[in-house]
Amino acid sequence: MEKQRIAEILQNGQPDEPLIIQGWVRTKRELKGFAFIEVNDGSSLANLQVVLNLELADYEALLKQLNTGASVEVAGVLMPSQGKGQRIELKAQTVKVYGEADPETYPLQKKRHSFEFLRTIGHLRSRTNSFGAVFRVRNACANAIHQFFQEQGFLWIHTPIITKSDCEGAGELFSVTSLDLKQVPLKKAGGAGGAGGAGEVDYSQDFFGGPAYLTVSGQLEAEVMAMAFSNVYTFGPTFRAENSNTSRHLAEFWMVEPEMAFCELKGNMDLAEAFLKHVFKYVLETCPEDMEFFNQRIDNSVLATADNIINNQFERITYTEAIALLEKANCPFEYPISWGLDLQSEHERYLAEQLFKKPVIVTDYPVEIKAFYMRLNDDEKTVRAMDVLAPKIGEIIGGSQREERLDVLERRIKGQGLNPEDLWWYLDLRRYGTVPHAGFGLGFERLVQFMTGMGNIRDVIPFPRTPLSAEF
Ligand code: ATP
Ligand code: MN
Repeated sequence: MEKQRIAEILQNGQPDEPLIIQGWVRTKRELKGFAFIEVNDGSSLANLQVVLNLELADYEALLKQLNTGASVEVAGVLMPSQGKGQRIELKAQTVKVYGEADPETYPLQKKRHSFEFLRTIGHLRSRTNSFGAVFRVRNACANAIHQFFQEQGFLWIHTPIITKSDCEGAGELFSVTSLDLKQVPLKKAGGAGGAGGAGEVDYSQDFFGGPAYLTVSGQLEAEVMAMAFSNVYTFGPTFRAENSNTSRHLAEFWMVEPEMAFCELKGNMDLAEAFLKHVFKYVLETCPEDMEFFNQRIDNSVLATADNIINNQFERITYTEAIALLEKANCPFEYPISWGLDLQSEHERYLAEQLFKKPVIVTDYPVEIKAFYMRLNDDEKTVRAMDVLAPKIGEIIGGSQREERLDVLERRIKGQGLNPEDLWWYLDLRRYGTVPHAGFGLGFERLVQFMTGMGNIRDVIPFPRTPLSAEF
């Protein structure tokens, strides 16, 4: 007998087919002389119904073991189902229980649990319908991302997780050190560890000979690789020690960062739009059942939103235009808004959700609120930045055309209080064979949130890391 996954059986299984399944019991229903169990193996939202009857060896003892959460192997034959709700069911011939789950203590009983509660049992929550759907869609998104870039000849590159450069000069860094925190070596006046700074930590004794951090972005390294391979992308973990307990921020999240040589802001926007459209299309095609589930149970605008993304051109406006629209808006914002201030999430959502009712790409932000590497416009007041704002989420993509001119870049680095010498290799890219180039960063979990309608970012990553929380 052949072992099959439940998704495959539900789709293609034919009556009289003998087969084996393995999975976890979701529910049990006992009737007179027979019983049904619903088994799930993670391959689909729907369970396979298994029929057990008195002819089975040790029927009574077996039923006592087959509680919600128990792991089983069932060998049997497929039959057309008598009941409504499923096309086909499995008539069990032999049942093996791998591991029982005590109904007195197993926390996932049949009732509906809140996502807050499920976060406290992060090791078990993936066995629920909602998290099953989330992580299948997450997988499909990841697959779609690779497919999109690979088909267009982008090279997937792996940028470092440990870095000595604080990419944006933005703080929010996790330090990486092998120093003994109980006896941190301090610099002595005029002694080892260089002149000056007596009393400061002597990082020359640390593992990397200087302060090191977990990466907040792979962009600078992606630029290095784009200057050799033209089109590259990263897809990896990213860390930010931001103490913001919001529904959109994690301390550890995944970021997708394409970087393209010989590309300006227009090409960057076109790529971002084609990219989002592709990912949505792919997920709708490969996970229709899960997407239907989100639409019914989580957010009834999920399918319409996906449709909207796939079939509409994104709105493209400048920051200056956006400010004018926000100043005219008849909407009680919590934070004031005027030219020069950064858009808050409420402003971003107003533009995407209420005004345009579709994704909006905002470009050309004030130089003061954006990173040093963004290309300065001729007005010297704005930079070639672009943020893609999505309904419900706000900023989902942040990107820019990069400053490729050595003198301007040096000026910008100094202007932001950074030391050009620390970025000598980054500046070398402008010294040797510089080209116009552009790229963006997409928060992978924000994408999955957007796709599924899940309200809290902690519920779209298997093991969320947030302030004071890294249990599982
Ligand atoms: P925000 O204003 O929402 O904090 P940001 O301006 O800090 O975003 P970028 O530095 O541009 O974001 O990072 C690129 C992308 O990474 C963002 O567009 C967003 O999708 C995602 N992102 C940023 N911070 C986080 C976080 N803490 N958790 C999850 N995703 C994040
Ligand atoms: Mn941020």
